[in-house]
Amino acid sequence: MNSAFLIPQSVAKALEKLENAGHAAYLAGGCVRDLLRGVSPHDYDLTTDALPEETAEVFSAFPVIPTGIKHGTVTVLLDGLPLEITTFRTDGTYSDGRRPDEVRFTRTVEEDLRRRDFTVNAMAWSPLRGLSDPYGGQKDLQNRLLRCVGAPEERFSEDALRILRGARFASCLGFAVEEETERAMLRLTPLLARVSAERISAELLRLLCGQDVERVLLRYRELMAFLLPELRPCFDFDQHTRHHCYDVYTHIVKVVAAVPPEPTLRLAALFHDVAKPSCFVLREGKGHFPNHPELGAEVGATVLRRLRVEKKRIREVCTLIRMHDAYLKRTPAEGAPDLLRALPPALVSPLLDLMEADAKAKADPEGSLAHVNALREAVERLKAQNPCLSLRDLAIDGEALLALGVPSGPEMGKLLRDLFEKVARGELENTRDALTLAVKNR
Ligand code: ATP
Ligand code: MG
Repeated sequence: MNSAFLIPQSVAKALEKLENAGHAAYLAGGCVRDLLRGVSPHDYDLTTDALPEETAEVFSAFPVIPTGIKHGTVTVLLDGLPLEITTFRTDGTYSDGRRPDEVRFTRTVEEDLRRRDFTVNAMAWSPLRGLSDPYGGQKDLQNRLLRCVGAPEERFSEDALRILRGARFASCLGFAVEEETERAMLRLTPLLARVSAERISAELLRLLCGQDVERVLLRYRELMAFLLPELRPCFDFDQHTRHHCYDVYTHIVKVVAAVPPEPTLRLAALFHDVAKPSCFVLREGKGHFPNHPELGAEVGATVLRRLRVEKKRIREVCTLIRMHDAYLKRTPAEGAPDLLRALPPALVSPLLDLMEADAKAKADPEGSLAHVNALREAVERLKAQNPCLSLRDLAIDGEALLALGVPSGPEMGKLLRDLFEKVARGELENTRDALTLAVKNR
């Protein structure tokens, strides 16, 4: 069965070139796992006994980038496709629980596979040499199980990020975590304190976008609370309202799972109600959460800055959190134009997706769901009628005006507003040509 994987020509060519030069070469890691489970890999990593200089030599006719020479990785551009080629290596000892003190190159693929995190990620394959699976990865793949290569406590102590990777693969692949591996994951969670924010957030964002995120966020909520302590007050928090049948955390998790799997939206869902516990007031036996979107956006920003998420994403996540409740109390006809004015175009659809998921995760979804659907229709109608709803949508911008000789400053601001008014009233067409002409004739 393993002799007939379909792999891209350029990948086959790279393996062949290394073999022809007398080296052993395999595909390894995630791509082998994905080929075996019948999913098309998103990239192909090669592993070889050739030293980095030897690899560079084999591919001297192609662009070679010394990506991580110290770790044995070079990137080769073959037919426009970047391929990472890494020398067989062991990771030596870990004294800081983060990265190996030294990387040692080795001669056999089995030794290379031993340093890898989970058995399903510790297989290598080549058309010539077939499958190398010294740790039972194929069997675990069939049983949909994540199991550490070697002793879990040892492997998680070497590099605590593997704990979070376990949850990430559980979410993305829909696999269960084998018992001993899971026990070690839970017991050693605090070791994640040693891992850099960048490495954590990369795995966390992927975890959030997994198909099985609901199960993983519920089952590993202690891991989540370790990374994001701001979520802990939401655990088991009773909302005291007939609109909610779930505690705050379970509601949050349901909303995360119900929005499209895109990092910005999933982060917004994760924090949309995070401030509910701190905003909670009880009036006549009913729970209220005044100002929780605003405060939630602040909490979200604090967390995401700590995780070193890029600024643009933080801004977008916070806008979505702040607005997630804003249009429920107004009629769709009133809300739609305001929504289009208030939001950058790229966030309109995500906000409606977030509102829809939020409605679905309530005790009585019908009413709010109908409201969100009506709002979505009203927004679509408005967009079709008049595509220019804010200065941002004007088919000319400050830069173009500068080029037409308009000095920047108040005069340009006024001109932009005048043009916008005319377009909004239907007196001027919202095209670059029409607007340019209007500026020249002013
Ligand atoms: P994906 O397809 O989602 O990218 P992947 O398995 O390729 O999954 P990567 O993070 O790209 O995941 O890592 C590539 C391979 O390198 C893994 O399959 C695993 O064998 C190994 N690996 C990556 N990170 C670690 C780690 N922290 N500890 C041990 N092995 C690791
Ligand atoms: Mg990968």
